[in-house]
Amino acid sequence: MPKILFIQPTQYGADGKLCKQKKIFLPGLVFPLLAAMTPAHWEIEVIIEVVDNVDYDSDADLIAIGTMGYAMFRGMEIADEFRKRGKTVVMGGYMASMVAEESLKHADSLVLGDAEISYPLMLRDFEEKSKLERIYDHPISKLADLPVPRYDLLTSKPIGNMLPVQAGRGCPNTCSFCSVACMYKGRYLFRPVPEVIRDIKAVRALGYKQFYLIDDNLVSNETYLRELCREIEPLGLKWSTQCALEIGDKPELLALVKRSGAQIMSFGIESITQAGLDKLNKGWLNVDDHKKRIAAITKAGIMVSSEMIIGTDSDTEQSIKATYDFIWETRIPLPRFYILTPTPGTDLYEEFLAEDRLISTDWKMYDGTVCVYKPVNLSPERLTELFWELYKRVYSWKSILHRTLLNPAIWKSPRLYLFAFVVNLHYRSYVKKGNPPNIL
Ligand code: SF4
Repeated sequence: MPKILFIQPTQYGADGKLCKQKKIFLPGLVFPLLAAMTPAHWEIEVIIEVVDNVDYDSDADLIAIGTMGYAMFRGMEIADEFRKRGKTVVMGGYMASMVAEESLKHADSLVLGDAEISYPLMLRDFEEKSKLERIYDHPISKLADLPVPRYDLLTSKPIGNMLPVQAGRGCPNTCSFCSVACMYKGRYLFRPVPEVIRDIKAVRALGYKQFYLIDDNLVSNETYLRELCREIEPLGLKWSTQCALEIGDKPELLALVKRSGAQIMSFGIESITQAGLDKLNKGWLNVDDHKKRIAAITKAGIMVSSEMIIGTDSDTEQSIKATYDFIWETRIPLPRFYILTPTPGTDLYEEFLAEDRLISTDWKMYDGTVCVYKPVNLSPERLTELFWELYKRVYSWKSILHRTLLNPAIWKSPRLYLFAFVVNLHYRSYVKKGNPPNIL
């Protein structure tokens, strides 16, 4: 019986040690999905390095490494170690697809982009020819007929109280810094609603009362979102997702989303300066609408989580300090920040390369906590300092209490705000160690 070992690498912290956690709060979907697509005669093992250790003496025949964000570099190290021991290594995922040439130095083969067609072909070649193509790149044109993910591979790990479900893949927008835009180039493929509901029922059958939709921008297809919410509502589960802030303009849709069980939504707010958003090809978001949209979403009973970028071309000392005031005023319970990072493969990378603005080509520094380019109004060093100052202020006791336990919205969902308080403490411990709180 051939065996495949899936590995999701963790990343290095500021202390040079691997980041580890007691639990995986938001486990990924890709391995359970690939496992469900794997022929039954294969043995499957999953290592999620943030909670598991990698056994380089594994008896697996094929090592499959996922590459998400900055953990890519750890993935390359793991790949090198296995190849030294004569194992066949395949890499896939966002980063391997975006920097294919570099990834191929560490892997025998790459599965680029969507794996639904490429992965079975790769497995077949491995079994029948004992030889892999260097690259499997077979884009899909529809997202349907997917099997129910092998959730048992996640539930056997120490995970939080949610399992992942996918409704669609991609995004209609093309923000220049974004890896989703880089991969999907404005495409958004949606799964048939009955298939999504089937997976949600599978999550419920395992005893889970919550799930998260790993989509990036569900509100971009309002008709689909409405249909989905109408079907989710009778299931009686709570759910969370990522979304565009525009949903704050649609009170009736917000009410439907809330009724269906939505509790936390994460929004890419990015910047409080319009010029900053415009430059990142995200000018469709209007900074003048930020506060009223956040207030509307909060009023609807949905907790706001946010992602913001520090270091857009219009950022100054003042605008970065004003970002703290923005978080204070809006009382966003779960805010996160990143230094603008021209991830290789994105339009932003090409732009900064052409403008000779990259000050480091050591991709290991591209983790969103260090400035790796020449900002317009600040030195790179000062920008990095301001980023950490902002994070420390936002995760001070005063700010944490103001945004969670003392937030007037707590009366609508006390348990949810208590949960946000605990997450803030977790984030605070990350920030104190000099790590960004993004490993959940
Ligand atoms: S809206 Fe979000 S997911 Fe879509 S391209 Fe922009 S940053 Fe990426």
